[in-house]
Amino acid sequence: MRLAAAMLLVSLVTLTWLVADYLRLQRAAEENQELRALVNEQERQIQALGLQAAVVRERMAELELLDAEVRQMVGLPTAEEERNAASTTVSSRGGPAQRVTLTDIRNTLTLAAMEIEPAKERLEDLKEEVEAEQERLAHIPNGWPVKGRISSPFGVRRSPFGGSSTEFHAGVDIAASYGTAVRATGAARVVFAGIKGGYGRVVILDHGYGYRTVYGHNSKLNVKTGQTVERGDIIAYVGSSGRSTGPHVHYEVLYQGRNKNPSEYMP
Ligand SMILES: [Zn+2]
Repeated sequence: MRLAAAMLLVSLVTLTWLVADYLRLQRAAEENQELRALVNEQERQIQALGLQAAVVRERMAELELLDAEVRQMVGLPTAEEERNAASTTVSSRGGPAQRVTLTDIRNTLTLAAMEIEPAKERLEDLKEEVEAEQERLAHIPNGWPVKGRISSPFGVRRSPFGGSSTEFHAGVDIAASYGTAVRATGAARVVFAGIKGGYGRVVILDHGYGYRTVYGHNSKLNVKTGQTVERGDIIAYVGSSGRSTGPHVHYEVLYQGRNKNPSEYMP
């Protein structure tokens, strides 16, 4: 009887142990499954990250091409090294089915980070160059001082004051009615505003970059020597002062002291 009781006890203990062990194993199996799911999920994320890193480098290459395109658009020189750099980075992406490791991603991102700084510097340089070009374009003569018909072109012509003599006409004459606003054809500093011989009441602008413009025969001046003007500012009013046969603007464009044909600057 005592033996039976002892055996029952042993059986109970064994059974309890077995049940406990089974439960432990089942928990371990569940944990294992969870870990495997986690590893799969992480691997999926690594592959996604790899694709994104490749996209970052691709975008960097696109940025460099864009930089070169913008330079070309505004007529700035495109550095050879930029084109080379752009072409070498495009090939960085492997086949789409290729498995990416964290080391690959780190390498790709390191390269991208190395490319960002010079790309930023190039863009800053480009910005400065574009601004300088905008500044130059704002200054150099472009446009008509008044709207009107060209009554006398640039170059050698018969004297408008009769006779058979010829003379060199240093500008173009634009016919316009008396009192019409005469406008600066580019940003400039007024270097002369007053009466000067045959020019009558005349304004002379210095645009920098080697350019000057002359506006002659005005009835009234609207600027003073030394002041600055922007393109389109009213500098005078049409008249017939000086050596003139009727109201018009005598307009000259000089580059490095030489008379150019103003028509080339009047689109
Ligand atoms: Zn003239």
